[in-house]
Amino acid sequence: MAEAENFIQAYIDEDLAAGKASAIRTRFPPEPNGYLHIGHAKSMFVNFGTAEKYGGKCNLFFDDTNPSKEKTEYVDAIRRDILWLGYRWDKEVYASDFFDTIYAFAEKLIAEGKAFVCDLSPEEIKNTRGTLTEPGVESPYRNRSPEENLRLFREMRAGKYRDGEKCLRAKIDMASPNINLRDPVIYRILHATHHRTGDKWCIYPMYDYAHPICDYLQGVTHSLCTLEFEDHRPLYDWVGIELGFSPKPRQIEFARLNLTNLVMSKRYLKKLVEEGTVHGWDDPRMPTLAGLRNRGIPAAAIRDFCARIGVAKANSECEIGYFEAVVRDYLNACAPRAMAVVDPLKLTVTNYEGEEDVEFDVNQTAEGAGTRKIKFGKTLYIERSDFSLDPPPKYHRLRIGGYARLKSAYIVRCDEAVTDGTGKVVEIKCAYLPDSRSGSDTSGVKAKGVLHWVNAARCVDAVLKRYDHLLRDADYAGQDFSERLVKDSEHVFAVKAEPYLDGAAEGEAFQLMRTGYYKTCREDGKLVLSEIVSLKDNFNK
Ligand code: ATP
Ligand code: MG
Repeated sequence: MAEAENFIQAYIDEDLAAGKASAIRTRFPPEPNGYLHIGHAKSMFVNFGTAEKYGGKCNLFFDDTNPSKEKTEYVDAIRRDILWLGYRWDKEVYASDFFDTIYAFAEKLIAEGKAFVCDLSPEEIKNTRGTLTEPGVESPYRNRSPEENLRLFREMRAGKYRDGEKCLRAKIDMASPNINLRDPVIYRILHATHHRTGDKWCIYPMYDYAHPICDYLQGVTHSLCTLEFEDHRPLYDWVGIELGFSPKPRQIEFARLNLTNLVMSKRYLKKLVEEGTVHGWDDPRMPTLAGLRNRGIPAAAIRDFCARIGVAKANSECEIGYFEAVVRDYLNACAPRAMAVVDPLKLTVTNYEGEEDVEFDVNQTAEGAGTRKIKFGKTLYIERSDFSLDPPPKYHRLRIGGYARLKSAYIVRCDEAVTDGTGKVVEIKCAYLPDSRSGSDTSGVKAKGVLHWVNAARCVDAVLKRYDHLLRDADYAGQDFSERLVKDSEHVFAVKAEPYLDGAAEGEAFQLMRTGYYKTCREDGKLVLSEIVSLKDNFNK
């Protein structure tokens, strides 16, 4: 067998060696109460990846025990996003598939004196739970007979009581140092319509009780979850032991993925959608998989990122810049280059007439990508910031009397700037050097600056969108999400793009020279260039 790549695999190896497990089965367990985010991609990487490593299987398990928050819309979105990311589950299973068995197990616990119906209110239960230093107080209903408990539990199921009026609690130990073992609630009354079982049930099992049962019934050998469940493991094990599960699934916890500048909580993401801060769950600024897909980020880059950050036992926060660097590596290798001018300034080549084809490199980093033809002409647009009347030191772009190369075409010399009444430059007039054509330059002139441009007679008007991160950076880490939220994080520009981009397939990724990686899309028939990731790599790998 290949060597363990992380501590989870080391545990599994132990279990295999000890004969505690044979065929490995894991599950990816989303609750269908929102869209998956990049944190879930890590969970998938761990669950699907571990199963694959051992030639095992991974189920898709919908943890749908909380009907008031769950919807079929989310189930559909979750399935779509997992498939997009490139994972294939074995069985698709729902906690609600097992509601009958979960209920029968509860009656078994009652019959054996291991669970009781409690009339304390949720508030009273919370207040009698004790603290880390003080034991809890036993419920006055703790010693009801199994017969009475069974009758009451059946009445709960039959709908005799209101929400919160009664609940079923495991009878464990109110003095346990682990608060989760202090007679935890395992069933609650909730008169709510479930997205799959409708109104069949008005009592629902709690996560900590249902999860080990569902794992066992699916044949899960290793239940891989995030660290916040570490304190719940004793309860997970209690359920398995008391119900006599054999072989009992093993819960192993790993660190959550946290990324700077991103919110990783479905609850908060939902708030952003509902309050209109973003356009929807798939807004390109969202850390949801739907958002990342819409942003133009390749699924393979996300999987690769998860593999590179690894699986650890301790929580930490990963720089968003690292994720972006991985994405940039992918796009750099495959995205064709193109030109668009964000803040156009007219450039007239005074000594040039007509037009001609010049050869533009499709992607210098991709071997064999070759060139494509673009039309050079008399009237062009360049970036306003590529000309200065009063250039700072080391300015290699255009100035009066200065030279620069127009990408793939000629070196030009700027002779004159035309200003309007307010002194704003509205046009520059340049002369081109006929013997400076790219690839056959014999001019002898050194032009350090290479500028991108578009042909004014052929370019198309497009909309370019740039995005800020949703949250301010790590310096604000302790603060509440709403305080860190960047309010206006979408920036829209009217730009001039080469006609080639207008003919590109919807959703294609380009490197807009000197601007960034952008994806093409259409809004009301108009070309939109939507930022995937900036060009600047400010992350030190
Ligand atoms: P959220 O807090 O965003 O709602 P959750 O944990 O409630 O997340 P679930 O749908 O219950 O969301 O998560 C499914 C699985 O994904 C769980 O096993 C959970 O531990 C895991 N998971 C959720 N967020 C992360 C994360 N940031 N990093 C790694 N795993 C995660
Ligand atoms: Mg959850």
